[in-house]
Amino acid sequence: MSAIEIITTAKEMQARSDRIRSQGTTIVFVPTMGFLHEGHLSLMREGKKQGEDLVVSIFVNPKQFGPGEDLEAYPRDLERDLELVRKEGVNAVFTPYPGEMYGERFQTFVELEKLPKHLCGISRPLFFKGVATVVTKLFNIVKPHVAVFGQKDFQQLTVIRQMVRDLNLDITIIGSPTVREPDGLAMSSRNTYLTPEQRLSALSLNKSLKKAQTLVENGLRDADEIIDAAAALIRSHPETEIDYISVCDPETLDDLVTIDRPALMALAVKIGKARLIDNMILKP
Ligand code: AMP
Repeated sequence: MSAIEIITTAKEMQARSDRIRSQGTTIVFVPTMGFLHEGHLSLMREGKKQGEDLVVSIFVNPKQFGPGEDLEAYPRDLERDLELVRKEGVNAVFTPYPGEMYGERFQTFVELEKLPKHLCGISRPLFFKGVATVVTKLFNIVKPHVAVFGQKDFQQLTVIRQMVRDLNLDITIIGSPTVREPDGLAMSSRNTYLTPEQRLSALSLNKSLKKAQTLVENGLRDADEIIDAAAALIRSHPETEIDYISVCDPETLDDLVTIDRPALMALAVKIGKARLIDNMILKP
């Protein structure tokens, strides 16, 4: 296996990608904010199946954090991350400094009109503008043929698919399933914020989704009743503060009243310093 390339400037990354593309090699891209866990690694394994050249970015994007959010506290450990990606056979890592991505006079953003008005976009109004902008920049820097994103961030995946369609970006987007801890907690870099007691409360996210699926399997179709049952289960756990619970159309993210077709159930819950998200497709 050839040595991994660690690249910190956009120019160098673009030159490398031009070289790889001219050889007819497929570039697969996995963007991350680092502090890698099995969820990220599963995207890399999926990426390996999609093409020969696998590029991972590690960049905590300041533009997707609002005032008072956890930009400074966000966990970082580049050395450990590089060790992990080496083991996955990643060919290159792009790890820019914020100054490299956002110059002093930076002023151009990518913004979607409708999808960010739902779910996480309500309490994080700047988030998807930051995500769409950084992903567009990363696409222009890494020039991938294929990019892999996690279904754990379902709304983000929906936003990126829409952006790729709207802007005719010539990139295939792959969604990869959520990786969970053995007890069901969706893996997240932010799980490190949880105390042992809070971590127990965090299990309520996945439990409430499973409960909702059971209710649907038993014939319940009313979205509000399902949301109420999920909320009650979450509230029965200490220190939980529900941001939202939504049952909606998986493509438009518009609320559904009745579950008469596969519906996205998505939720965000604050537990201590962590704001955790999870989701499931409910199938009637
Ligand atoms: P992040 O570093 O949190 O920005 O995530 C980078 C990518 O990893 C995104 O596409 C996420 O959806 C994906 N991801 C994060 N957690 C998980 C997980 N538990 N399972 C699968 N993918 C994940």
